[in-house]
Amino acid sequence: MNTISKSQYLKGLQCPKALWLYRNRKDLAPEISEGRQFIFDTGHEVGVLAQQYFGEGLEITEPYYKIDQAVRSTNQAVKQGKGLIFEATACADSGAYSRIDIFKKVDGTDTWDLIEVKSSTGIKDYHIDDMALQRHAFAGAGYRIGKSILMHVNNGYVRSGKLDLQALFTLEDCTGIVEDRLAEVGSKVEELIKVINSRIEPEIEIGGRCTKPFECDYIPYCWDHVPDYSVYDVFNGSKLEDLLEKNILNIPEVPEDLDLTDRQSIEISAFKENRIHRDITAIKAFLERLKYPLYYLDYETISPAVPLFDNSSPYETIPFQFSLHVQSKKGGDLKHIEFLHTGTDDPRPGFLEALVEACRKRGSVVVYNKPFESGVNNKLALNFPAYASRLEMINDRMVDLLVPFSARQLYHPAMEGSASLKSVLPAFVPDLTYEGLAISNGEIASIAYNRSIRGLVPEEEKDQIFEDLREYCKLDTLAEVRLVEVLYNNS
Ligand code: SF4
Repeated sequence: MNTISKSQYLKGLQCPKALWLYRNRKDLAPEISEGRQFIFDTGHEVGVLAQQYFGEGLEITEPYYKIDQAVRSTNQAVKQGKGLIFEATACADSGAYSRIDIFKKVDGTDTWDLIEVKSSTGIKDYHIDDMALQRHAFAGAGYRIGKSILMHVNNGYVRSGKLDLQALFTLEDCTGIVEDRLAEVGSKVEELIKVINSRIEPEIEIGGRCTKPFECDYIPYCWDHVPDYSVYDVFNGSKLEDLLEKNILNIPEVPEDLDLTDRQSIEISAFKENRIHRDITAIKAFLERLKYPLYYLDYETISPAVPLFDNSSPYETIPFQFSLHVQSKKGGDLKHIEFLHTGTDDPRPGFLEALVEACRKRGSVVVYNKPFESGVNNKLALNFPAYASRLEMINDRMVDLLVPFSARQLYHPAMEGSASLKSVLPAFVPDLTYEGLAISNGEIASIAYNRSIRGLVPEEEKDQIFEDLREYCKLDTLAEVRLVEVLYNNS
């Protein structure tokens, strides 16, 4: 085979082995997760709006695997004098082929601008590789190319009424930087086509490349020999390299005389000795900050790329649900209050009203990862100034339950280096579990809600989704209650 697509080129730049596996080991192809599908869907939504931005054009509709036909259709459209083509496709003699979101003829010339649409809010380095390959493919196919433009979402846009496409997008001329990178594309394409055609799987060390710029699909395959909790979870830089050179992967094999930070020392000795680490003084100091009644609070949010509501911007975090457990004294009974907006309009006004009413004016507000909830409140305060002072009061009362665990004041070896709620809870409170819930993490909650309010799930399934959301969010705040008990029991 002597061709390579743009996405394969980018895969090969990240890791030649990933490219080889993609082309030669179809049996290892991963299933598409809900999260990844959501990213595709967002890209598609933004792409459609970008086409509308330019107006009436001709779309090349052949599927991605019918490259020759797509190239022919593009040539035909150009010959017919079309000046605005969506998904135009070209293949260079080098074997590199690519589509371009918007192929736009410069008026009165035979020069074409290449406009690549991204759902991100700015330019990333891999976008330049992306555009360099496109330029290589189209120039190599005989087109005269003008500008290489990246069209991305403008997160400074604030929606007011109908979507303003001119304001939603930002177009950045990247021609200079793309041309600078163009010089290396030909040799890279040649090199990567050789990789694809090799009968031998490339030997590549696992490491940082496996997650940057994208999480690689082949981690389960390449990292199979690495224990769930390994030196990769504790070390980085030269210390990690030294251990790997000595073939040390397992924590119990880490030499006793290795120079460790306090945090590494706590994690490693807790794991080796299978015991809980407690800094009782620090835990007591944390607990003394809690003022009853306690309000255990948790938010669920969406961050739509294209703002759904007036007075919101692309990717702005929009809260649609909270769960609150209120406890008037240590070990006292719990009162549960919840809010979930089930309509298709802006959830924030109802959320705000219910929140300030439920949180009252006294007592600590316990959250897990304060920057998130307080950040949502700060943004709400800016957009809904009538609530600003009450939101500020809630933020002032906020106590971050994450801190004693992330600072390793209380550390269980089963946390395996992570202080996320999903790691801490099973370590200390195994009877309270997310297993078996239809919605078991914030990302799935966000996707499920997004789909339900946008009419992407059948009407008869919506009630069940809302019920699942309530159950999930309630468990988050119940988990906070139990973790405060854990801290008391360990102080
Ligand atoms: S997991 Fe890492 S080493 Fe394996 S193919 Fe992916 S990037 Fe390459």
